[in-house]
Order: sequence, then C-alpha cells, then structure tokens
Amino acid sequence: MGLKPKLHTQILLGMAAGAAVGLFLGGKATLVAPLGKLFISLLKMLIMPLILASLVMGMVNIGDVKNLGRIGGKTFVYYLSTTLAATFIGLAMVNLLRPGVGMIQGVGAKTPLAHHATPSLLSILMEIVPSNIFKALAEDRVLPTIFFSILLGSALAITKEKSKPLISLFDAFNGVMMKITEWIMALAPLGVFALMATTVGKMGLSVFKPLAIYMLTVLVGLGIHAFLVLPGLLRFLGRFSPWTFFKAMLSALATAFSTASSAATLPVTMECLEKNAKVPSEVVSFVVPLGATVNMDGTALYEAVAAIFIAQAYGITLTLPQQLMVSLTATLASIGAAAIPGAGLVTMVIVLKAVNLPIEGIGMILAVDRILDMCRTTVNVWGDACGSAIIARIEGLFPVKKTTKEVYSERA
Ligand code: ASP
Repeated sequence: MGLKPKLHTQILLGMAAGAAVGLFLGGKATLVAPLGKLFISLLKMLIMPLILASLVMGMVNIGDVKNLGRIGGKTFVYYLSTTLAATFIGLAMVNLLRPGVGMIQGVGAKTPLAHHATPSLLSILMEIVPSNIFKALAEDRVLPTIFFSILLGSALAITKEKSKPLISLFDAFNGVMMKITEWIMALAPLGVFALMATTVGKMGLSVFKPLAIYMLTVLVGLGIHAFLVLPGLLRFLGRFSPWTFFKAMLSALATAFSTASSAATLPVTMECLEKNAKVPSEVVSFVVPLGATVNMDGTALYEAVAAIFIAQAYGITLTLPQQLMVSLTATLASIGAAAIPGAGLVTMVIVLKAVNLPIEGIGMILAVDRILDMCRTTVNVWGDACGSAIIARIEGLFPVKKTTKEVYSERA
C-alpha cells in the first residue's frame, strides 16, 4: 500500500491513543515499550542500505559531480542560513519572555552530562572520510556513507557502459528498499502508539510546572520557525503551497515527534517526499540524509534558548556579542548533534563553554527535555523536507518531467 491520507490519519490516531493510554496508565504503560523499540529498530534497519542505494542511484541520474556540486552549494547556503535564522528567533524569544529570571538556580543539581565528550568541528569534518566503508555502514555513520556513495555513484555514472550490471543491481536494490519502507510504514500507527504511550506514561505532568515558561519560550520559537519562516520560504522560494506540502509530510512529522530521532525518521521522510510531494529522488537522496545529520533548525533554536535561560537563572547577563556567540555556537552544536534522542542536550555543552556558562545548568532543564526533543526533532525534519523541495524548485528540477540528467545536459 502507498502512503495514502488514510495512513496519515491512522498515525495521528495512534499518537493520540498512545498519549491517552500513557496518561491513563502512567508508569504501567511501559508494558508496550518493546513494541516501540521494535518499530525504531525496523526504521533504523533501513537507514544505511537506503542511503547507499538511493544516493548511488541519485548520482547516476544526476550524471555529473559538477551538477551535484551545484545542488550541494545551494543546500549548504539553505541549511546554514535557516539554522542561523532559527537561533535568532530563539534569542529574540528568550530575551523577550525571560523565562529564567527569578528561577531557583540549580534545580536539578549536578548533571551527568557534564562529563560527556563533545565533538569538535574538526573532528566532525575528519569524520566525513571513512577509513573503512563497511565499518562506517556497520556503525550507522551517515556522513562517511554519503561520501562513499557519492564517489561510487559518480564512478558508475562515468563508466556507464562497463558498469551496467552494477547500476542495474543498485537500481533494483533501491526499488526493494523503498518497498520494505512501505511495509514498515504500514506498522507506523502501532509503533507510534507504543512510543507515545511509553513516553507519556513515564513523564509525570508535575515536572512541567516550574519550567512552563521556559517550555513555552522554546515552543513559541519553534512555532514561529515552523509555521512562519519555513512556510514563507516554501511559498516564495519554492512556489509550493505550504499546506499541501505539510499534508504530504504528515507521516514523517508524526514519526519525528514520536521517535525524537531525525535518523530513525529518515526512511519515512524520504518516502513522503518522493511519493507524496513528488520531489525528484536524486535531490531527496542527497539533501535529506545530509540534512538529517547536519541541518537541525529546531535543535539550534532550542540550544540558544536553553543557554540564555541558564544564564538568566544564574543571574548572568550576556552582552550582544556574547549572544551572537551563542547563536554561532548553537548552530555549530546542532550540526554536531547526532540525529538521535537527547543529542542536542549533550552538544549544548559547546554553547555553554563558549560563553562561560555553568554546565551544571543543564541539570535544570533535563526533566522536560524529552518533550522538547520531540518538538525540535519535528522541526528538524520539517526543515530538511522544505529544503529539498525548495532546492529542487530553484534548480528547475520540479515538477519531475525529465530526468535530472536531461535537465542539466540541456542547460550545458
Ligand atoms: N533528537 C534530535 C534529532 O534527532 C536531536 C536533538 O536532540 O536535538 O533531530
């Protein structure tokens, strides 16, 4: 079955039912936790083969590394500018609502995260080139896999005649991976139900109270970015109806919210973009896996808000240049954050260290991190999806009438 509106509705119903069961049963709802874990494992199982197969075929269809370079350049500009914009929104909101002022500092006392290793920018860059592609695949490392797939796809495109059997193999492999994704998506309502029931069951509502304004600040910021900025770009740069596009992406957004992982959502995001929104798979297969790994608008916005919130709670006033430093480091920290639950909380150490804020401050916001993680992950996935559609449009590759290669060779 395809991703018909019926599936979206089923997933949303699953989410609502899960939340209700979680509220009703509390801690007992964790009984269904294995179901949720199974669903995430099924999704994760798809990620690496899907990236490899679709990106290799994407490269064969784009035809030339030069063409990919054009898409890559635009992707880079889109990702960086939207993430920076998100941090500015976060800064504006946190300075306006001032949720940390008057907070009792050190509510959560010391945090175990203080001793976590945080990745440096250089180490992220060094990560891109794998010394062993099989190891990278086995360890679910997305960037090195993207790097290798681009090389492999380019080599296949150049040696087309000789490589025909291998190209057919990847083509068929890509097709069956999409088929398996469809099967697993059919289980999404159940998986999402279990995930929501477990999360809501574990979360006591009482933890929200002291941090309500902080949460509101993050949510309003995320809302402005997701409902105004990105749809604005979709409309004016991409000439898409944001509402139609939103409906096409609904399954992916609901999965992002329930799993709090852009990586686990990746197969669903790609499926929705290609099948529902009809964005060319060549663009999707490059822009989206990259985006799931490095483009996290929601995480960057959240980190900017959280850092200033901690400063406010500790009575530390940050100057404008320091706030700009927060924006910059939150952008970098979001790039470095893994696409898994809670990753943003770990890389926030980078932001806090950059402006000398107490790392223990993270302890204050731990209790409500999961729910905010679900929301920021949804915005992360929405940002990637909008990006791929906008870039496809700017490149003249949308709607798909010809292959990407034909479009580019006509232009040359
Ligand atoms: N969970 C987020 C994601 O997967 C990362 C984060 O923790 O902010 O996109």
